[in-house]
Amino acid sequence: MKARFLLIAVLAALLLACGSPRKLQGPFEVWERTVITMSDSVMYVFVTSEFMDSLELRATCRDLSEEELRSDLLSMLSTKMLATVRSPQQGGVGIAAPQVSLRRRVVAVQRLDKPGEPFEVYPNIRILAHLGDTVRGPEGCLSIPGMRGIVPRSEGVVVSWTDPQTLQAVTDTVHGFTAIIFQHEIDHLDGILYTDRADTVFVNQAWLDERAPYEAEGAYDKPRWLYGPEA
Ligand code: ZN
Repeated sequence: MKARFLLIAVLAALLLACGSPRKLQGPFEVWERTVITMSDSVMYVFVTSEFMDSLELRATCRDLSEEELRSDLLSMLSTKMLATVRSPQQGGVGIAAPQVSLRRRVVAVQRLDKPGEPFEVYPNIRILAHLGDTVRGPEGCLSIPGMRGIVPRSEGVVVSWTDPQTLQAVTDTVHGFTAIIFQHEIDHLDGILYTDRADTVFVNQAWLDERAPYEAEGAYDKPRWLYGPEA
């Protein structure tokens, strides 16, 4: 009897040890914790020209749990996503978590409609309603560098997210270019890129020229550890 119990215990331990490292307990999965803690303050941004990155950019993202919303890891991720989108080598107006390899519903958006045009982070965000006419304007994406497209979007949106402090749902109605940024970033959370919606896509040479010196410095090189748990 004792031997059988021992056998079961050993098998259980083996099963636990062999189980996917992504399924261990705690806020965020092991791989997500690795990305958040190991990334530099300016994170590597996934690009469609890299095959593995392009698959990640097509993934569907899920919400954060209450524990994750309250965790220091979300604060760290927010800080790093903000530093990334605002960095001179990126210089964007928005970024979404799958662009930094996390399949989570988190985006950072520059609120061009607010005084001081602050960048803000929105966990568990979704669009509740599209408002107004369809408008067409140019868009670019940090994950498709050097390209722009003319994209039809709603003039306004009602968005909802969870405040990580109060854990309450917050809604906001946004119009103009800020509403376009929200639509672009929230699309990323469903694996949709602006090129899927664009009427036309074209090369933006000025952007390529801006990136060239950073590229020469290796500012866009993918860290070796980011190739995945199996790398
Ligand atoms: Zn984008």
